[in-house]
Amino acid sequence: MDWNLWALKKSVWVFHVNTGACNNCDIEIVNLLTPKFDVERFGIKLVGSPRHADALLVTGGGTRQAAVRLKEVYRQTAKPCIVFCMGACACGMGIFEKGYHMAGPIDTILRQVDPDAIIAYVPGCPPKPEAMIMGVVKALAALQPKEKYATERMGQAVVANPA
Ligand code: SF4
Repeated sequence: MDWNLWALKKSVWVFHVNTGACNNCDIEIVNLLTPKFDVERFGIKLVGSPRHADALLVTGGGTRQAAVRLKEVYRQTAKPCIVFCMGACACGMGIFEKGYHMAGPIDTILRQVDPDAIIAYVPGCPPKPEAMIMGVVKALAALQPKEKYATERMGQAVVANPA
């Protein structure tokens, strides 16, 4: 078992990066921290430095200005670092796809730095907080292919390898 991945099963600390979002996805991420969703009860915590983060929550399609910063933020994270593309823009540039100012999509930008980057996609415009939580849970489960990964604390059993 990869102990680095095993350690990511719980208490994932995340750093939020806006790479040119319209701000709606960012509002939904803030919504995750409100008492209604309260993701900190699952150990998911927003941190103020990429050096403390296990994962990046990326919004926006990746403008030319933001692409440089995104690469630098990714370089500063401890590896393995899971990158969550939150929203249609982060997943594939969305409505900004043909914009002159775009360098994205996010996965293309990050693979210039790390071809083996672990990237998960949560589509939606914006995705609901419930979808964001489920995206994080499923991605973490997918990283644990050899064992059952149940999220009893969230009230939903997500099993990576039911066989
Ligand atoms: S996916 Fe939609 S809500 Fe999110 S940044 Fe793009 S346009 Fe805004």
